[in-house]
Amino acid sequence: MTKDWRIETQAIQGGYQPKDGDPRILPIIQSTTFKFTSAEHVAKLFDLEAGGHFYTRLSNPTAEGFETKIAAMEGGVAAMATSSGQAASSIAVMNICQAGQHIVTASTLYGGTYSLFANTFPKMGIEVTFVDPEADAATIEAAFRPETRALFGETIGNPGLNVLDFEKFAAVARKKQVPLIVDNTFPTPYLCRPFEHGANIVVHSATKYIDGHATSVGGVIVDGGNFDWGNGRYPELTEPDQSYHGLKYLEAFGKLSYIVKARVQLMRDMGACPAPLNAFLFNLGLETLPLRMQRHSENALAMAKYLEGHEAVSWVSYPGLESHKSRELARKYLPKGASGVLTFGIKGGAEAGKKFMESCALIALVVHVGDARSCVLHPASTTHRQLSAEQQVASGVTADLIRLSVGIEHIDDLIADVEQALGKSQ
Ligand code: PLP
Repeated sequence: MTKDWRIETQAIQGGYQPKDGDPRILPIIQSTTFKFTSAEHVAKLFDLEAGGHFYTRLSNPTAEGFETKIAAMEGGVAAMATSSGQAASSIAVMNICQAGQHIVTASTLYGGTYSLFANTFPKMGIEVTFVDPEADAATIEAAFRPETRALFGETIGNPGLNVLDFEKFAAVARKKQVPLIVDNTFPTPYLCRPFEHGANIVVHSATKYIDGHATSVGGVIVDGGNFDWGNGRYPELTEPDQSYHGLKYLEAFGKLSYIVKARVQLMRDMGACPAPLNAFLFNLGLETLPLRMQRHSENALAMAKYLEGHEAVSWVSYPGLESHKSRELARKYLPKGASGVLTFGIKGGAEAGKKFMESCALIALVVHVGDARSCVLHPASTTHRQLSAEQQVASGVTADLIRLSVGIEHIDDLIADVEQALGKSQ
């Protein structure tokens, strides 16, 4: 495998490398455990003195195939697959942030992540400060405390669709000596590679475009290998771990230490591991990811332009549109396309929005995005309903907002469906 391959080649040829007589395709190793003959060998595996699979909660060959490929596509050094995108975000933060510590995050987040940060982390003693991602660097810096351990943001906010100002966020993170953790679910590494713009850790909901066919829930954490964990602020990586007889992760594993710790400590203890079949499907999904992301982006741009000219639509938000507030950032960070999700405001507010959703025939009402099939949703009454009105506004949701995840069907059929549904909504 070569690091120089372009992302389209990594997507097909990266990851699993069969040897003579091996299956050509990454096999589904549907086995909880792995057989050994020597007690000494097993002891070495448990002590992390030898590498290898011994129990699927910790690692599995099918998951490894997916992890190696996505790490290569993101340009990172290592990855760990998880049972969901939520597990990926939880572990990514908890790996370096404990009770009594704190993170700063852009407020424009997926509803589940917002809730994790606003409700669950504080109950566990991890405090979270939400900042307006459009605030200037000094304002974002002012949210930091001595005990702040990470800065978090989404490359494209869901469903606000603001593009992260990597230059600003990465500069703040660097100055404050914390890693920038980026949720890259919407662009995928085909449209944006956050490590090239100063991010240090990437998380994904693999459930979305990586799977691409709405078959499996899963997530992944990728380490860019570009953060100095030895800067004195992350003793969990530099000081002895008593649960491994005093192992020091950074000393023992260097650039791989963050992912090794996430796996052998948090995955061991919390168990949010991926099913081998799901890892197989994510690996398969990655093969066509570049092609699908091109088509999603083309279709979404055409749909956004069509909606902009429609009399029943009061506004359209898509980072590929000239009128979008993040247009300059999209030009800089998403030059190949702005992915498949757009939002628009329907005249007649929440009631018209509900009628529109129910009138779509080809486009399905599902709580999902990033599927090859087009999907529609009214977030205020669904994904973001647990949030207060203020929290909804802070995360970019308004009552008239409709979210369309534009699939890879023929654009003419999609526009015809939207046309008839808009007609029925007014
Ligand atoms: N991040 C983003 C941007 C998402 O859209 C989602 C889910 O919609 C998640 C994270 C959570 O992922 P999962 O549903 O796989 O737990």
